[in-house]
Amino acid sequence: MSVREIPVLYIEGDGVGPEITPVMIDVLEHAVSKAYGDSVRLVFEEVLAGTKAEKLTGDSLPEETLERISQVGLAIKGPLMTPVGKGKRSLNVALRQLLDLYVCQRPVRYFEGTPSPLRHPEKVDMVVFRENTEDIYAGIEWSAGSAEAARVISFLSSEMNVRKIRFPQTSAIGIKPVSEEGSKRLIRAAIDFAIDDGRKTVTLVHKGNIMKFTEGGFLKWGYELAKDEYGAYEKDGSLFIPADGTDILINDCICDAFLQNILLKPEKYSVIATLNLNGDYVSDALAAEVGGIGIAPGANINYKTGTAVFEATHGVAPDIAGQDIVNPLSLVLSGEMMLRYKGLREAADYVLKAVEKTIAAKTVTRDFYNLLDDRTGARCLGTKAFGQELVKNM
Ligand code: NAD
Repeated sequence: MSVREIPVLYIEGDGVGPEITPVMIDVLEHAVSKAYGDSVRLVFEEVLAGTKAEKLTGDSLPEETLERISQVGLAIKGPLMTPVGKGKRSLNVALRQLLDLYVCQRPVRYFEGTPSPLRHPEKVDMVVFRENTEDIYAGIEWSAGSAEAARVISFLSSEMNVRKIRFPQTSAIGIKPVSEEGSKRLIRAAIDFAIDDGRKTVTLVHKGNIMKFTEGGFLKWGYELAKDEYGAYEKDGSLFIPADGTDILINDCICDAFLQNILLKPEKYSVIATLNLNGDYVSDALAAEVGGIGIAPGANINYKTGTAVFEATHGVAPDIAGQDIVNPLSLVLSGEMMLRYKGLREAADYVLKAVEKTIAAKTVTRDFYNLLDDRTGARCLGTKAFGQELVKNM
């Protein structure tokens, strides 16, 4: 019998990374084995990044790691530490930009029994497509008082007749590039996903009312794309993309109103396409509605090259590292997305079922346990034991 071997690179991650990574690997291997017996095998190979890479190679993001991810095209990573305000680039942002992983995809759904601040968290079922390579995140900025900031300010005032910088002597300056190509490839990925997944709405989330040409451009290009590439048509004042079954409504929402609406009427939204900074806020706000960052999965994907890096969306959680209390679900569910991305649907379903069953039985890690309104019958497990429970419930 021939065995389909699927190479998967993994970055262990800093802080709680070494605790959640083995749980993720164990759960995925069991799910694949349950679904396909010996005919499919995930072949995990470690690549270095973060503190571990720095210690072993002197470089926190070795060239070899980037090369290997480009070659294999599939990786999953734990969180990596970014020192704040020390001029050091975020490794996460660097990975996304160097591999041109232009889509940050974050599904947000509710698992029965998860503690939530909403009265009806079951109404939350969205997939966020956040643009990953542009916007204010491009990292083009200069600190207040620097010669570079002074030069840019002088250029703006003398050559561009800009008079709107309130305090030119003490301003830091940042640049926000937003392109037609960058916007369209992100929105295309969101629409394609909506079509493939049978979703009914795609919403473009933006601040085009204030940033007319950057965020306003994103909006304009989104609607253009829907019409030019997908044959979107108008009906009763709304725009629809033809699809099998029910056509898909494409609309837009200003980001601040959107953050309000996801609390008041989350059922109105399904697939979200948005820019980098909005996407950052929106993803965490949505995650909080259905259990917080401890459970929210994510992926960074370039749909043209196929390269995809799946990741825990939370940080390195230094306050709880090494205590066997971290919730491994963000990374486990990122692994579930990875299985689905590789077409291993049956294995992905096993992971989802295990998570559903375990949480519904009120078997949880400490973060969830502390938030439960009713702890009758609940069990608070350590990270390792919780992982074993997932495997048992598969
Ligand atoms: P954080 O996500 O590490 O922690 C925020 C809070 O949430 C902490 O109280 C932490 O204990 C808790 N928490 C996070 N994940 C949890 C989990 N799985 N289970 C239970 N509790 C969990 O965010 P932070 O404190 O803002 O950042 C710490 C470091 O992580 C920084 O260096 C930051 O740059 C980095 N970071 C990395 C990523 C990434 O690698 N994708 C994302 C965010 C932050």
